[in-house]
Order: sequence, then C-alpha cells, then structure tokens
Amino acid sequence: MNPILSCHDIIVDFDGFKALQGVNLDVHHGEIRFLIGPNGAGKTTLLDVICGKTKAADGKVMFQGVDLTKRREHEIVRHGIARKFQNPSVFTELTVFENMELSIKQNRNLFSVMKAKLTADEKDEITAMLERTDLLDRAYDPAGLLSHGQKQWLEIGMQLLQKPEVLLLDEPIAGMTGAEREKTGLFIQEIAEKCAVLIVEHDMDFVRNFAEQVTVMHEGKILCEGSMEEVQQNELVAEVYLGR
Ligand code: ADP
Repeated sequence: MNPILSCHDIIVDFDGFKALQGVNLDVHHGEIRFLIGPNGAGKTTLLDVICGKTKAADGKVMFQGVDLTKRREHEIVRHGIARKFQNPSVFTELTVFENMELSIKQNRNLFSVMKAKLTADEKDEITAMLERTDLLDRAYDPAGLLSHGQKQWLEIGMQLLQKPEVLLLDEPIAGMTGAEREKTGLFIQEIAEKCAVLIVEHDMDFVRNFAEQVTVMHEGKILCEGSMEEVQQNELVAEVYLGR
C-alpha cells in the first residue's frame, strides 16, 4: 500500500544547527503512528515541517502525490493535514458549539463564508462531532469552563471538522487524568478508522497501549521503526532512549 504522507530526506537548519538531518517517514492510511525519542530529538520540528509551520532547508513532503514542501500552513490544511498543538487553543469566551461553528466555517469558500448562518447539514455535522467528543451536554457552555481533557477533545473535534486525512497530535494526553487518557486513546482509535494519526508522545504506557507503529527519533534522525515490541528490542533504542 502506498503511503498517504511521505517525508523524504528532510533537513531543518536553525542558524547552522541541524535539528533534522535527512529524515524519511511514511504514514499510511488509517495508521496510528507514534513518534518517540528523547527531548530535542526533532519530533516537534518534524510535525512543524509537515504542517508548513517550519520550512525545510532540503527534502520533500509529499501528500497523496502532491508536493506540499513549499505550501503555506492554510493550504496544507486544505489538502487534508490537520495539526493539534500541545496546549489547547480554544476560544474560551465562546461556547463549545461556537468553537466548532468557527471551525466548520473555515471549510467554506470565500463567498459562503460571508453567510452568517449554518446550513442544516453543518449543524448536523457539529452535533455529530459533539457526540463523538462527548461534549453534547456542554454545547452551550463557554469553552473556558471545560476541563483540560474536554478542551483537548474539543480541539481535536474542531480539527476533525476540517475533514483531514492525516491528523498530527503533539502530546495529546499531557496533563490528563488516567481516565481521560484512556478515553483519548479510544477516541484516537476511532479517528484512525478514517484518518491516519501521527502522534508525538512521551508517555510510554500510552504508546504501548495504542501504537500500531512506532518511529524512534534521536538527534535529528530516525533511529528505527516498527511495532512497539520491535523497537523495544532494538539495541540502539535501549541505549539512547530507554537508558539500558
Ligand atoms: P523534540 O520535539 O524531539 O523534543 P524539537 O523538535 O522540539 O525536539 O527540537 C529539536 C532541536 O531543535 C532541539 O535541540 C531544539 O532546541 C532545536 N530547536 C527547535 N526549534 C528551534 C528554533 N525555532 N530555533 C532554534 N533551535 C530550535
């Protein structure tokens, strides 16, 4: 099966410091792939390159056969790659529903974005997303009143309303309770039925429970890839990452 997203020989240079030194990564449709590795390995920089936030000095990002390397962030979202950053960035004064409304209106073309009202279909989509994120009973509360976990789910829901084919998540369970982590893992599994998910994560229990594929990074390079069992048996990983 061809990958939906491919990074080829990505190099990122921050004023002479090579944060990524020729990174190759494939993501396949419907896959849950975790990016792990010690602090400073280049995981976040790689997500930044994929979503267009950071420009690579060299290399290519190909998505469904289209070269996205030089595209801007909003163009990349339109092509089908959504990114949720680590800290929730919802509009706290707006209701949960209004946050989702803003997100769905971003899908409109310029003419219809001017129309204030949601269509019946758009309302139905939001209601379905409120159900998926377990926020239906909070729909008319200001988003600022949600718990940390609920804000994260709201934001993931907002990204999903953009109908991505690849969702990038940066430490989605940071700061969550045990029950919220479990719920997030199950939500990610449900998302992956339709959309590939690439996740930067430090919590190894979470990775063990929910990873289908794991890519280990170290000092700006890919160290190894495979199932969690496979990467755990890799000697280099044990040395640099698991401290054995
Ligand atoms: P990780 O997510 O694996 O912890 P990062 O991608 O955040 O690693 O960082 C990789 C390296 O690049 C680190 O050494 C970090 O200090 C450096 N770095 C990240 N962003 C910048 C930047 N904007 N300017 C300079 N150096 C940066």
